[in-house]
Amino acid sequence: MKLLDLLFPPRCLLCGALLGKEKEYCSDCRKKAEEAKGLVLKRFGDGAVLDAKYIDSAMAVFDYEDIKESIFRFKFHGAYGMGKGLGELMVSVARRSFPYLLHRPTLVLPVPIHKSRMRQRGFNQAALLAKELADAEGKPMEEAVLRRVKETRAQMELERKEERLSNVKDAFAVTDLAPGSIVLLVDDIYTTGATANQCAKVCKKAGAAEVHVFTLAAARRKD
Ligand SMILES: [Zn+2]
Repeated sequence: MKLLDLLFPPRCLLCGALLGKEKEYCSDCRKKAEEAKGLVLKRFGDGAVLDAKYIDSAMAVFDYEDIKESIFRFKFHGAYGMGKGLGELMVSVARRSFPYLLHRPTLVLPVPIHKSRMRQRGFNQAALLAKELADAEGKPMEEAVLRRVKETRAQMELERKEERLSNVKDAFAVTDLAPGSIVLLVDDIYTTGATANQCAKVCKKAGAAEVHVFTLAAARRKD
């Protein structure tokens, strides 16, 4: 057994169960990962919906409730190695259900975190996922194009829609985006789309032709 395995025993990417001989997933979750079809949040070509009018399409892999332990470990326990596995899962679901998400974009952008959070956490979880999606079809992934210029609270913590909208308003800025870019915007969680929509808005104002959103989870709220 490797020392690393003793210090950090391999756990299932989705449920966190300790693994024996299995790789990446426990047997229950492997089935779930292999069969995942993904969730359609906003279909390409649909009319503008409230909160998300700058987004051309939005897809997710799992409902948040089905993957929340995994996301928690990924983000807050520094489970850095999970990025690759979860990113690969996003790639396989995109290939199966939303292949345009891999083929159409000219550029992959992670939803950025503020630099103070970057110092605290040491990595942007969205960038780890974005890297896998970009590499799948040899597309460029840029971390510096889209920046979070305002410190914001987690959207999931905010109950009221007005709070969520004002929390992310004017929170993002874009530099050096090639006009006509077709952007794949990647994040871990899609709540109401307010964050992704603000990112898409600054990208479109900077000349992006389309912005498509792909997240690991969707925590859908009704309001
Ligand atoms: Zn599992």
